Formats: sequence, C-alpha cells, structure tokens
Amino acid sequence: MKPIVALVGRPNVGKSTLFNRMTKSRNALVDDFPGVTRDRHYADALWDEIPFTVVDTGGFLVSDDDVFAAEIREHVEMAVEEADVVVLVLDGRAGVSPFDQDLVHILRRSDKPVFYLINKIENSRQRDDLAEFFTLGMDKFFPVSAEHGVGVPTFMDALIGVL
Ligand code: GDP
Ligand code: MG
Repeated sequence: MKPIVALVGRPNVGKSTLFNRMTKSRNALVDDFPGVTRDRHYADALWDEIPFTVVDTGGFLVSDDDVFAAEIREHVEMAVEEADVVVLVLDGRAGVSPFDQDLVHILRRSDKPVFYLINKIENSRQRDDLAEFFTLGMDKFFPVSAEHGVGVPTFMDALIGVL
C-alpha cells in the first residue's frame, strides 16, 4: 500500500486545484464557490519515482458557522487518522482565519508529519503579506501557486523526503 498524503483546509483555499496538480488528474472538482459537501477523492501520484496516494478531503457544508467548524474538524481528524502525511492548505490571499488556528492546533496534536502550504502566492507583493502566517506558530511553510504550479515542485521534493 502506498503512503497516503491528505490535503486539508478551509473551503476555497485551493485543495482540489493542488490535488489535480499533484496527481496530474482532473478528478477533483474545483469549485468557484464553497458550500458543497463532496466525497473525498483519491488519486495516485508519482514524484521522483516515489509513488504515493493523495486524498482531497473535499468540500464542506458552510451554511452555518458552527456546522462549518464542526465539519471541518471532523474531516481533518478523519484525514489525519488515515493519512501518513498531512498537508494543511492555507489561502495567502484571504490571510489567516480563526479556523486556520483551530486546524493548526488539531494537527499539532497528531504525531504525523504536517506540511503547511500557503497557496495563491503569485507575485512578490503577496510574498510580503506572508509574515502574518507566522502568527500560527509553524516554523516552516511553503508558498505555492497551485493554479500556476509555482513552488509546488519544491514542496513535492520535501514531501517525498518524509515518505
Ligand atoms: P478547495 O475548495 O480548497 O478545493 O479549492 P479549489 O481548488 O476548488 O479552488 C477554489 C478557488 O480558488 C477556485 O476558483 C480556484 O481557481 C482558485 N485557486 C486555486 N488555487 C489557486 C492559486 O494558486 N491561485 C489563485 N489565484 N487562485 C487559485
Ligand atoms: Mg475542493
């Protein structure tokens, strides 16, 4: 069985776009609007001859803030349970949200390796805005653009290093 890499994060941060790029598939549905609950998607990936399976944890119900938070926590806990490595995807355009802090706390409690990705970083001005993410307390993160592929190879190199 291949190692499982789970992508987690709030809706609309770009998990499915990243999933598609990592697996070179069009399997995941990229939503222009959050708010749809979907099943998880699995696809195989290969990087530098290392095979692994990527899980896109899908959308979440977002009709109500409490439901939203509870569902996200539940999905993240399930994903962490099943995964060998967890990737928290954050939105570099939207900035840090209180939910991100919750997710970081959940992930810190697990003993699995966690990668922190800040997505939608496409120019140097956006890179200047990354400092606020250090308030989440992680010591390393990867700025990426899942849509354009920037930073994704660097992340994949580090990822296979822990598989
Ligand atoms: P998910 O809900 O986390 O799976 O997010 P999606 O992959 O469905 O993406 C949500 C929205 O963000 C879509 O409109 C994507 O086109 C957009 N998006 C995803 N990745 C990027 C990126 O790297 N840069 C920009 N500018 N937009 C992105
Ligand atoms: Mg999605």
